[in-house]
Amino acid sequence: MYLISEAVYVLSRNGNPVIQLGQYRYRRWTGSKGSKVRWICNSNNKEAVFLLSRNGNPVIQLGQYRFNRWSRSKGPKVRWICTANHKGCRAKIMTVDEVIVKYMSEHNH
Ligand SMILES: [Zn+2]
Repeated sequence: MYLISEAVYVLSRNGNPVIQLGQYRYRRWTGSKGSKVRWICNSNNKEAVFLLSRNGNPVIQLGQYRFNRWSRSKGPKVRWICTANHKGCRAKIMTVDEVIVKYMSEHNH
């Protein structure tokens, strides 16, 4: 399946930031502390989590998939590639300032 989801950032009626990503809607998890930002999906248990791997590299966990920061990314716009990239998976995430703006869910696994 090839799918490009444009993430849309909106404010809910109570003024909380939410992301519309494809068919899913995420709200910012208010328990987030420090640099770890967690977005919880409203409709199921899918969530996008920005975290650090054991070697200190930033990763995004999105549902069952994990993405590594593309090391050549510079500036606020960052590309993240699926950890199965070496197996030919071409799924990517684009973020600007720690916010997901695009999800190319082209997973082959
Ligand atoms: Zn993948």
